[in-house]
Amino acid sequence: MEVFQLQGVSKTYENDGETFRALEDVSLTIEEGEIFGIIGMSGAGKSTLVRTLNRLEDVSEGSVRFYGQDLATLSRRDIRNIRQQIAMIFQSFNLLGQRSVLANVMQPLKIAGVPRHLRKEKALEMLRIVGLEDKQRAYPSRLSGGQRQRVAIARALAANPKVLLCDEATSALDPKMTGEILDLLKEINRTRKLTIVIITHEMSVVEKICNRVAIIDQGRLAEVGEVAEIFRNPTSNAARKLVFPSNPFDPSSKNNKLIRLVFDGLAASRPFIAELVEKTGKTVNILSANTKSVGGIGYGQMVVEVPGDEAEQQTIINFFRQGGLSVQEVNAL
Ligand code: ADP
Repeated sequence: MEVFQLQGVSKTYENDGETFRALEDVSLTIEEGEIFGIIGMSGAGKSTLVRTLNRLEDVSEGSVRFYGQDLATLSRRDIRNIRQQIAMIFQSFNLLGQRSVLANVMQPLKIAGVPRHLRKEKALEMLRIVGLEDKQRAYPSRLSGGQRQRVAIARALAANPKVLLCDEATSALDPKMTGEILDLLKEINRTRKLTIVIITHEMSVVEKICNRVAIIDQGRLAEVGEVAEIFRNPTSNAARKLVFPSNPFDPSSKNNKLIRLVFDGLAASRPFIAELVEKTGKTVNILSANTKSVGGIGYGQMVVEVPGDEAEQQTIINFFRQGGLSVQEVNAL
């Protein structure tokens, strides 16, 4: 079931007579129950894109459908209803500083018309889910960043939305808190079957919890697909920049090639560099290597320098490809 369907979405802003195209012909779908990432550099158009999903922003061309309904055709009242089904959390948490944690979480329940006597119980249930029941009387200023984002998540979930939009929700948090918030979002996605859309500029966030990802580059959709597949085999330049390890080395000779090898857990148990020497008599120089978990699967990646002339380089590349490794040239960036 498709939750969002964007068809040819463009967005232009007019500023002092100048036209600026923030989004250009973006088409994608977001499926029910998935964790969908939208990644791009600052200014790429991510926030604009996410604001079209609940019609905080009108599109200039194309259409956005929510469960099949074209948002542009809906009345104000329908839009209000839909916004209750699409909750949002932000980098800056947006909590009410003068109200207790419990009051913050109860706030959307009032707007949603939940009877007063049920609100507290429901809000406490949400605080239990995010592990902050004991902080119900505290004020946001007394909480850590991670705890504030937990309160924001409890508040976002209180009125039982179908979708949670997260706009750079972990960007203000340190790596440990980021990890904890992402684990919590994953858990909520699993237990409540909530569709989650994550806007971020960090590939590590996408790798940790997203099923699929859209890469936005200067307002355009550069690439969309399964996160593990894009990690293994990025085809657009924008995707390569995100997944290639930053590499401080230039080739030691200008004819040498730098290539990135990616192998999953299975291939990692094979001594393929030793096999290369044994089978082809050729060697490579390892410039960087690391392992990471993408969608729960361990991947290794290496940047190696490949010496020799074109034909020799091709022999080496073919050897790795035949062994099931993904191989891409780094020089091309
Ligand atoms: P991101 O979230 O990827 O950082 P944004 O969607 O916030 O990018 O912005 C994309 C581009 O659109 C930026 O160049 C920004 O300056 C421009 N932009 C965003 N909102 C407006 C607006 N209301 N008026 C004019 N330009 C805007």
